Order: sequence, then C-alpha cells, then structure tokens
Amino acid sequence: MKAVVKYAEGKGNIELRDVAEPNVEANEVKIKVEAAGICGSDLHIYNWDIGIPTRVPFIIGHEFSGIITEVGKNVTRFKGGERVTAENSRLVCGHCRYCMTGNYNLCTERKATGYAFDGAFANYCVIPEERVHLLPNNVDFITAALSDPSACVYHAIQELTGIDTGDIVLITGAGAMGLFSVQYVKANGGIAIITGLEKDVKRLVLAKELGADVTVNISKENLSEMVQEMTEGKGVDVALECSGSEDAAKSCLDLLRRQGKYTQIGIFGHPISFDLDKVLYGEIKVIGSFSQKYTAWDAAIKLFSQGKILAKPLVTDILPLEQWEEGFSRSFEGQAIKVVFKP
Ligand SMILES: [Zn+2]
Ligand SMILES: [Zn+2]
Repeated sequence: MKAVVKYAEGKGNIELRDVAEPNVEANEVKIKVEAAGICGSDLHIYNWDIGIPTRVPFIIGHEFSGIITEVGKNVTRFKGGERVTAENSRLVCGHCRYCMTGNYNLCTERKATGYAFDGAFANYCVIPEERVHLLPNNVDFITAALSDPSACVYHAIQELTGIDTGDIVLITGAGAMGLFSVQYVKANGGIAIITGLEKDVKRLVLAKELGADVTVNISKENLSEMVQEMTEGKGVDVALECSGSEDAAKSCLDLLRRQGKYTQIGIFGHPISFDLDKVLYGEIKVIGSFSQKYTAWDAAIKLFSQGKILAKPLVTDILPLEQWEEGFSRSFEGQAIKVVFKP
C-alpha cells in the first residue's frame, strides 16, 4: 500500500513509500482509510519541532475516517463494514492517576497514532478497538476526518474553559482550531472575535460565515482599539490562543479583563516570554488544553450529526496521497484551510 512516511528525525525527511499492509492484532481493527486531514501538528512533524513522543520511521496522519475491513480475534464491538473514526491516543499505561480518571490524554506513557505508531496517510491503518468511534449515518467521511480537531476544541472550551452566555471571547488564529472555536463559542451564546493575518483573509471570511461576530485582520486593523471599544475598555472575558504565535499570546493577555480566562490551544514549538505579573495582578486563570479524550470525541461526533458544528466548510483541498507535498505546502502557506487526503 501507499503511505506517507517520516523516515528520519529532523526537518523534512518525509516521502511517499510502498509499504506492507499492517497486520491486525487481537484487540485491533483494520480500517480502510477514506479521508485523512493534515493537522497543524503534522506541520510540526515536518518542521521537527513537535513535543509529542515519536518513533521514526512512522506513517504520519491521525485525523481520519474509514471503513473497518478486518477485526482482531478479541474484538467484540465490530464485525467489519462499519463506518468509523478513531482517537489518536494509542498506547497508555492504563493504571496511572490520569488513565484511571479517564484523562488518558495526559498519561505520561501516552504514545499516539501518527507519531509513535503508524498513522492514516495510507490506504490502511490498524487501531485498538477501544479508540474507535462508530459514525452516525448522516456524518460523511470528510466531516468525520475532522472529529479530532473538533474534539480538541470541545475539550478546550466545554471541558476545560467554560463560556457563559454573553461572554466576549477573543480567538487568535484562524486555522482549524480557531474556526471550530468560533462555532463552539457561538453554540455557548458567546460573542466571538477572531483574528488573522493578511494571508488569512479567506479564513476570516469563512469565520464570519461560521458565525464570528467580528473578524480582525491584524496586519491592517487595530485589534486593541476594537476590543476596547467592544468591551468599554474592560477587556474580553475569555481568550482562546489558537495560533501558537508569541505576539498573539501577548495580545490575549493584554486584552483580557481581570479574572478573565486564558486558554492555550495552539502549539508554539519553542519557549516564549509571557508576562506572569499580568496574570498575578489580574488574577487571570491560565488553562492549557492538550489533545482530547473519549468524552470529547463522543460529543464532537454527536454535534456533527446534529449539524450544530460544521467541518466541511473548513475543507478547502481534497488531494490523493501522491500529492502529499502539495498538501503540506498549501497548509504551510495558509492557502488551504484544511487539506484532506483521499488515499
Ligand atoms: Zn490533530
Ligand atoms: Zn496512564
């Protein structure tokens, strides 16, 4: 089968290879991949500034959907033929404090599909039964492939941050995380302000279509003035930093009201300077959000089925695996919002 393989550590070192189809273990299912999206963290795998454990060589890709073609001998929930998607948490210890409380995304032993185990930029992948989610009939494969980013945002907003009706929320970064954030903020009855750069103009237009109240092109417009005006100089109630940019993190902190909530969703890939005196003086609540877990997946898929959260408008490019390089470069340049491969 064809697979996009990260074959060595360091920047780049990725190629399309012919590899053997994976064998299914007793507790695993084999999935024929129907759609697999490029995630921001896949770009960090390309640049090799990823903080998530990896084991080269590995097949990249963890946001996907497909059809089960084979099941291991101990599998009880599936027979084969089911339409599914799957979580990327793969190996966890199963007995630490985090595993025992269902927070296995934080298990220190956690190894993930598409990082330390072969992923979904391939014709087939194998996944442990307990990480597989059945798709409702009305959720198509392209939408389902974006369950992971939607679940990440569900985890960040619904499970960790909490937004009240009427909260004014600043979202920095108009990538997939930012665009899902807009939708979750609106679903909670909040007011969504989203920022982007000149290269994100297309994304900001989409943000507006998805319900953003205010879009700000920070290359041209004065974000601070706009926020001061909207909040009568008080600052926003919540800031969701989705870009992984130091300047954006600073803006979020500067524009938050006292006792406001700051949530980090984007990955920087390197240490940044962040003024903790401002956190102290303003009694700011700083929240980190990493990956997701079963509860967020279950909810994200249900919300797709109910049509309350949309994924397809984010998908700008559908490419065959052979064009993986094109997909990555369109993602890096920001021309694409979400690239999905159809292997
Ligand atoms: Zn992802
Ligand atoms: Zn554990």
